Amino acid sequence: PVTVSLKHVRKVFENGTTALENFSLDVRQGEFVSLLGPSGCGKSSALRIIAGLSEPSSGTVDWPMADAAGLQHELGFVFQEPTLMPWASVFSNVWLPLRAKGVSKSAACDRVMESLATVGLEDFAGHRPQELSGGMKMRVSIARALITRPKVLLMDEPFAALDEITRFKLNNDLLQLQERFGWTILFVTHSVFESVYLSSRVVVMAARPGRVIQDLAIEAPRPRQ
Ligand code: ADP
Ligand code: ADP
Repeated sequence: PVTVSLKHVRKVFENGTTALENFSLDVRQGEFVSLLGPSGCGKSSALRIIAGLSEPSSGTVDWPMADAAGLQHELGFVFQEPTLMPWASVFSNVWLPLRAKGVSKSAACDRVMESLATVGLEDFAGHRPQELSGGMKMRVSIARALITRPKVLLMDEPFAALDEITRFKLNNDLLQLQERFGWTILFVTHSVFESVYLSSRVVVMAARPGRVIQDLAIEAPRPRQ
């Protein structure tokens, strides 16, 4: 089944920049799709439109399997900048999405610790983000995205700011987690390696205006244990 479907999406910003032109994409349940293309080709614009953070100028975005009310719980976002609250503990940062829904600290405790365990940070709940490495901050950011148990993950160059070894480790962890939870993932990257290594499908974009030029099925390699 199709999880999200974009048809003939066009995005023109107020200053006249056309970021997307005739952008169509169907993402099916359980797919790991990479959106690959050079800087400025419209990848983030497309992801923000899918996330509901930005409106298309024309064209449609449909979620055939979800009603509008249920969608919030189904989506997890991870951005390149972890955007963690530096003064708050790792625990409080991960708790935030549940706190926003009125879940108390004690009621959220099990879920927060589970989420931290999922990314291997259960021993760091009391630390502050500024005490952690870049890779660990990214793991906290992922744990926060997982706290609502989303079915769909939208990731915008999540590992771009990390060194290659950390990035490779996180790539492997992400593959294992996707296998375990069956997420549908849309992953924005400008790395050819990352797209081919991670995805079951690579959607290649070109710039000016942003559009899809190739849609390639990939047999993803399994991570090394
Ligand atoms: P990518 O994620 O592939 O780097 P973006 O989606 O960020 O590309 O940007 C696509 C194009 O839209 C670029 O030319 C960029 O400069 C432009 N753009 C992005 N956001 C805005 C904005 N808020 N206002 C005007 N132009 C924008
Ligand atoms: P339980 O119902 O006992 O939490 P699950 O098998 O559903 O058992 O979950 C086990 C672990 O997986 C927990 O750490 C939980 O937080 C996590 N988890 C479950 N579903 C998801 C999901 N869709 N996304 C992220 N983490 C999840």
